[in-house]
Amino acid sequence: MSDHYQTLGVPRDASAEEIKRAYRKLARQLHPDVNPGPEAEERFKDVGRAYDVLSNPEKRQAYDLGVDVNGTNGGFGAGFGFSDIFDTFFGGAATGTRGPVPRQRRGQDALIRIEVDLAEAAFGGQRDITLDTAVICPTCNGTCCQPGTSPRICDVCKGRGQIQRVARSFLGQVMTTQPCAACHGFGTVIPDPCLECSGEGRVRTRRTITMKIPAGVDTGTRIQLAGKGEVGPAGGPPGDLYVEIVERPHPTFTRRGDDIHCTLEVPMTAAALGTTVELPTLDGLEQVDVRAGTQSGEVQTLRGLGVTHLRGPGRGDLVVHMSVLTPTRLDEQQEQLLRDLAELRGEERAAGRMAPAHQGVFSKLRDRIAGR
Ligand code: ZN
Repeated sequence: MSDHYQTLGVPRDASAEEIKRAYRKLARQLHPDVNPGPEAEERFKDVGRAYDVLSNPEKRQAYDLGVDVNGTNGGFGAGFGFSDIFDTFFGGAATGTRGPVPRQRRGQDALIRIEVDLAEAAFGGQRDITLDTAVICPTCNGTCCQPGTSPRICDVCKGRGQIQRVARSFLGQVMTTQPCAACHGFGTVIPDPCLECSGEGRVRTRRTITMKIPAGVDTGTRIQLAGKGEVGPAGGPPGDLYVEIVERPHPTFTRRGDDIHCTLEVPMTAAALGTTVELPTLDGLEQVDVRAGTQSGEVQTLRGLGVTHLRGPGRGDLVVHMSVLTPTRLDEQQEQLLRDLAELRGEERAAGRMAPAHQGVFSKLRDRIAGR
């Protein structure tokens, strides 16, 4: 089937006016009176045929669907004219008939999961993902036909895509409409299906795409990549690809919302005397001051060292929970020093003191979260 758009030298989305103008110009150039010779005459006829189809909105629509409206493959050669057919296809809504329908369907959406570590979730990044998907068939370019062939109007339903049956019953005449079994309701059949894709118009393949991971994603976040899903049947538009994030647990940091929490273990002496500790954070080493007299369960908040907010500016905090380590396995001298210290502080027989339970580490954490 020759390309009528190419023949007239117009784009596929050309307006009626553009088509008319292109036709007139070519017709003047190629008219046998002006330009005698068999070659020009052949082109003149081609241009006439192309204009005949493209200037008629219904024929043009059918042509765009891939129906051979010139009938050279026998599609329309069965003894009825264009007008009959198009009346039936496009004008017959009142009688419940319809015309050929495009085979293209939108492709399915796909969902894949990827694991990210805390730093990637906090700062974002880029990732190559490989997935099995369907792409448009490179041989037939989604037409489903062997190159050089085209779909033709179904002989059984004459392009309607459905068959009407009238049955007589004791209730009177009953009219039923069923999809045409010969063309599966499309109104067109593919006489020579593409061998590469078995007439599907798409083939399965493995594809690698590079995606951006936005800063602030969390387990369960779904990123929509529009048009990166499967190509649909007959080369239909692709669906979307959804990428679901699963965050790998970090060995020391626990994420809660956009804050991250860790425990800093401090020897009893350092907690009593005060010190400075270098803490490896997501942003590198940070100095953390442990003030003299630090208690287990105390919290120090390093502002802005947490996970970037997915929506809105800024970052969460890094919350450091202090844990004071009581010394064990004392040697003789250490034990004596501690006894001396206890004596100096009048704590030789300290019985301990009751305190409310909410001062524990985890209840503090709970309060923090509840207070957000
Ligand atoms: Zn193919």
